[in-house]
Parts: sequence; C-alpha cells; structure tokens
Amino acid sequence: MTKTLLVRNAQVLVTMDQQRREIADGAVFIRGHVIEAVGPSSELPQTADEIVDAKGKLVMPGMVNTHHHMYQSLTRAFPGAQDGELFDWLTSLYPVWANLRGEMIHASTQTAMAELMLSGCTTSSDHLYIYPNDCRLDDSIEAAQEIGMRFHATRGAMSVGKSRGGLPPDSVVEEEDAIIKDTQRLIETWHDPSRHAMLRIAVAPCSPFSVSQDLMREAANLARSYRVSMHTHLAETAGDVAYSRERFGMTPAQYAESCGWVGHDVWHAHCVQLDDAGIALFGHTGTGVAHCPCSNMRLASGIAPVRKMLDAGVPVGLGVDGSASNDGAHMLGEARQAMLLQRVGFGPAALSARQALEVATLGGAKVLNRDDIGALAPGMSADLVMYRLDGLNFAGGLLDPVAALVFCSPAQVDCSIVHGRVVIRDGQLLTVSLGNVVERHNRLARELAEAARVAR
Ligand SMILES: [Zn+2]
Repeated sequence: MTKTLLVRNAQVLVTMDQQRREIADGAVFIRGHVIEAVGPSSELPQTADEIVDAKGKLVMPGMVNTHHHMYQSLTRAFPGAQDGELFDWLTSLYPVWANLRGEMIHASTQTAMAELMLSGCTTSSDHLYIYPNDCRLDDSIEAAQEIGMRFHATRGAMSVGKSRGGLPPDSVVEEEDAIIKDTQRLIETWHDPSRHAMLRIAVAPCSPFSVSQDLMREAANLARSYRVSMHTHLAETAGDVAYSRERFGMTPAQYAESCGWVGHDVWHAHCVQLDDAGIALFGHTGTGVAHCPCSNMRLASGIAPVRKMLDAGVPVGLGVDGSASNDGAHMLGEARQAMLLQRVGFGPAALSARQALEVATLGGAKVLNRDDIGALAPGMSADLVMYRLDGLNFAGGLLDPVAALVFCSPAQVDCSIVHGRVVIRDGQLLTVSLGNVVERHNRLARELAEAARVAR
C-alpha cells in the first residue's frame, strides 16, 4: 500500500491552483509522491499514515529556483571580487575556480541546497559550467540525491578562451567534442522525462561570450534530439550586449534566435538588457527567463523589465544566481527583492506580493518546462512548505499573512515536504547533518583559496 500523508489545519493554504485559491483552515492529502486532494480540513480525509499539523502556519507550494551556480558558495564575498561589474568580477574569480575539485562540487551543492530548502525552495536548477581537475556534474547529482531536493542539473560549458576572443582564461575551457560527448553521457545516465521526476538534465553552454556559435547550435540539436531543455546566460549587462553586437552583429535575442535558442524548452538567465523586440520574441515563442534580482543589484547590471515580460506572456521564474554574485540563497528573499526592484524601476504597481510568489512557484515551474510542480492541486507532485506565522518578523502583519510573507523579513521554513517526504521538520533538515555540511564546506573553501594563492 502506498503511504498517505495529511497536512491539515493550516491557517492559510496558498494553492496557486487555476483559481489561485487561498483556503482558510486548509489541508492537503498526499498519496505517495502525489497530491490527491486539497481543500478545507473538514472536507478532506481525517486519517492518514502520517499527519502533519499546520496550525498557525502558512502552507504553500515549494518554490522553484531556476538559476544557480552552487559551486560559487565556496567563494562568497571573496576578497578582490566584491566590487566589480560582471566581466571584472568573472576575470578575478576564474583563476580561483580553476582549482575546484570534485569533492568541492559535492560539498558546495549540499550547502547551497540546504540553504535553499530551509528558505522554502523544493526544486532547483544548477548551472555548472566549469570542470577543472576531477569535477563532474555527477558530483552535484549525487549531492542532490542525498539531501532529497528535486533537481534540474544543467551541463554547462565554456569553450572559447581568451586566446580566441572569449572572456575566460584558456586553462578553464574545454574542447567542444568532449563537451557534447559528456552532455550526451549525462542525459543517457541520469535524465528522467517522466511526470514527477526528481532529476532532469539540461544542456547549458555558459554564455555567448564563452562558447562558439557552432557549440550553441550543436547544443540545441543535441537537446532537441533527446527532448531535454536548454539553458544559458543572455543579455545580462550592457557589456554583454556590446559583445554580441561587435562579435555577431546582432542583439542577444537575435543571436539566440539565430542559434535555435528560443522555445518552451529554452530558458535564459537574467535578460536585464533584453530589448522590446526580444521581449516580444520570447513572449510568442514561450522562451523562459530566470530573473535574478539580487545578483543584478550586486553586480549593478540593471533592472530586468519583468513587468513588461509578464505582460508580453514571457514565462518568468526566479533565480538566486551563483553564490559569488548574490552571496545568499534565500528564495523568499529573492521574491521580496524581485517585488522591490520592479517598483524601483517601474512604480509601486509593477509587482505585487502575490505576483512575486506566483513567479517564485508557478513561474519557475513553467520556465523549467514542467506542469507537475509549482501549485497545490490534485495530480501535482507533493512539494510543499510551511512557515510559522507567530514569529517576530510577521508581528503586526497578520491581517494579510500571504502578503506579509513577501513584505516582511524573509522567514525560514518550519516544515518542507519534497516528493511526499518530510525533509525539514521543526526547522531542522532531516536528510543531512547541517553542522557537518558547513564544517566540510568551510574547510574546502579555505583549501580552494589557498590553492589559488599558491598557483599565483
Ligand atoms: Zn549565472
């Protein structure tokens, strides 16, 4: 018999279902990995194999993080890379990252995932595009399986080094044949196309300024032959746009289209400098955008036109981005910054708290090309999170707890369920020892900095 799990008595249950229902005294009945019923506690089954009492709590779908570089958690607030814009920041960190080892990828993935999960995220993508020494994407995948997070691992890559007009040093780029071969291996080994999949692979050349046009095209062909998604960085800064115009004679959106990089199976990180024609193109092709407000502020890249994108029908999700350009991976914090930053750029009506939560849940699901996560409804994956409403940060905000969740200081989750399994209870991560994860992470971060110092 498949195990049942009942979450009941939620003060408010945010469903993100088609009617965007918010249910007072709400409950969710789960069978195995899948939600079977959602409604008022009095109308749902009263018994189950396991019962979670959500009294005094807000329950909502687990959030979806669409862009990250988890290995960068090893170089947060890195001295010498704190105050530059994108290209300066990258060129000061590439030589440090050149010393990464497989063990470090594993450790930093667990750190990043623990941080995301405790903030309310249940599905994350990761963009690993640098493979020095013995690093493999498999290191991240194994880390995700141990910690119990739903994962979209993307096989990133850089192939155009400095000597060929790219930005990264030659020492951290790979041969294009080897990139394609390894990507194919990863898809065949790990990709799960089925509904409720815990693990998917995507094809993800790093950016137009670090791979060739040939690789962009080949990557698209490969992804489509296996029916997997495609991910890259696009139009992040003014420098990015200038590079595209000089090198390819096209705007970033035109370049993406020329390489086959538009469609429901494609999502681009940032798009801060996407022009109106690009927004229209992404809207009618269903091309997704991972909006990363903290990183965009940290690197002074600008304000992405998210309001315009949403109005044009562009699927928009949130990304915390790599931990070296956000330095904190809090999904609610990111939703809050998304709301605030749109207001700075486009006025106080540009993004409401509920719209920000929708981008963080349903928006992320759509960007990852999934219709089985991001909402609490029958037939959806059983991914949900709970926040206590009796804390200091919400005091005085309880006339509208859903809005308070975004307006007030970002809270940590009290309970998290991923794929029908309780992974956080009473604010404690159950799947790994957080103390051990942090201790190991800090030791390896010191080793990485030391290796870079010796190499210089
Ligand atoms: Zn990024």
